Amino acid sequence: MRECGLFINGEWTAASSRDTFETTNPATGEVLARCAAGNEEDVVKAADAAAKSFGDWKRFPAPKRGEIILKAASILRQQKKSLGEMVTREMGKVIAEGEGDVQEAIDFLEYIAGEGRRMLGETTTSELPNKRCMTVRQPVGIVGCITPWNFPFAVPSWKLGAALIAGNTVVFKPSSLTPLCAAALVEIFQEAGIPPGVLNMVTGSAQTVGQAIVEEERIRTLSFTGGVAAGREIYSRASKKLKRVALELGSKNPLIVMEDADIDLALEGILFGAFGTAGQRCTATSRLLVHEKVYSEIMDRLVRRTKALKVGDPLDPSVDMGPVCGPEQELKVLNYIDIGVKEGARLVCGGKKLKEGDYGKGFFIEPTLFEARHGLRITKEEIFGPVLSVIKFSSYEEAIHVANDVDYGLSSSIYTRDINKAYRAIDDLEAGITYINAPTIGAEVHLPFGGVKNTGNGAREAGTAAIAEFTEIKTVFIDYSGKLQKAQIER
Ligand code: NAP
Repeated sequence: MRECGLFINGEWTAASSRDTFETTNPATGEVLARCAAGNEEDVVKAADAAAKSFGDWKRFPAPKRGEIILKAASILRQQKKSLGEMVTREMGKVIAEGEGDVQEAIDFLEYIAGEGRRMLGETTTSELPNKRCMTVRQPVGIVGCITPWNFPFAVPSWKLGAALIAGNTVVFKPSSLTPLCAAALVEIFQEAGIPPGVLNMVTGSAQTVGQAIVEEERIRTLSFTGGVAAGREIYSRASKKLKRVALELGSKNPLIVMEDADIDLALEGILFGAFGTAGQRCTATSRLLVHEKVYSEIMDRLVRRTKALKVGDPLDPSVDMGPVCGPEQELKVLNYIDIGVKEGARLVCGGKKLKEGDYGKGFFIEPTLFEARHGLRITKEEIFGPVLSVIKFSSYEEAIHVANDVDYGLSSSIYTRDINKAYRAIDDLEAGITYINAPTIGAEVHLPFGGVKNTGNGAREAGTAAIAEFTEIKTVFIDYSGKLQKAQIER
């Protein structure tokens, strides 16, 4: 069985405590690797290494940093197939999506490597003669990156790529459910030539490693993606130390189908949005809002299509949906299905754990549809599984009200042929991302990604926004008059 260590100061080592934990395949229960369970002492060692290497890395020219990141992207590309399989084995998404996860990492690293030749600031005029004003971007120092399990290559690559190109050094803690993928990604950065101490990885639990990263004084910036409960706790602890924190949290994404929508197109989008990655995407469609005039048609066809989805071994290319990622996730999803039934939503199809034969070895849940009404817990709280609640509406205004009346605001979508409604929805939907005639999933790495309300604290990843998260702006005044000049307010 594979062993994965911590990566500190350019070396793979055991945890200080020598403790380990296992990572398993959620489809089969097979143990994939034994991983080092770091603790507070290991985080201090990682921060020591990151602090020591910061000066040199900061001074290393940004285009050269970009070359290392580009090399990492190229290694990922060479290994895409085997890494995609690794994602599928460790996390459970179907093989096409496993490779898609790796592809997103490649795309982002290729994109962000180019930022080494931009890192743009401003130049502007001065109120005084013979004086020039400008801004430059500087790294923030040591960054703590804490990531979830649902995109084990893509999400860490977004954070590591942007933090590193900006000249920061990193202490990285991946999810305890996907440490094998994280180790593979770090190995790739090592092979690409990342200098010792610049990128450090400490695997281990949220309570030890995660909290130690949040508390470590020298880590001044935190970049976190995960659930809202953890995000709140991290924000509150970090705020006492006045740390900078970027949070990408949960969601409850609506997809609206208007009466004039292309129903065939909408159905494809609904199925992909709701059941892709077994609903375990932050942008997954978890609420379907359907106009009463097309409700029966959509429901009839959706039920048929949902029942026909093939659930099974995610390595089998003919399978549509794999397992959920482990026992805790399974329990949470089944519990929400139970809540939905108890609060009076109509269970239209699915709803059960699959236990027979090979299913019994893993965490498989049937794709589940509820006919629900707005206001139920299943229509307001994040489930993060293959459960879609369908809500009927009778007007555009009602649809927008229902879509917005939740605590989250990451992704949103509307299917309509009416260009006026489409544009109004762009203005009206309270979400960081709005799709027109496309499902709630489908981010592209050169555009900003993030949400409003409890989905985060205003941070955006990817796109040009990614650099802002990991840099300080320094304002520079250059006086070449050769005499003391006073700005207006000082005269
Ligand atoms: P999670 O339980 O919040 O954990 C995320 C990461 O944080 C893991 O590495 C976890 O460590 C660590 N962690 C948890 N509590 C912590 C604490 N108090 N202090 C420090 N670290 C802590 O989330 P998850 O179950 O992995 O991921 C699913 C969630 O992520 C969903 O809510 C989903 O919406 C969200 N998500 C959001 C986005 C976005 O961009 N908005 C993208 C993807 C996922 P352990 O693994 O060791 O527990």
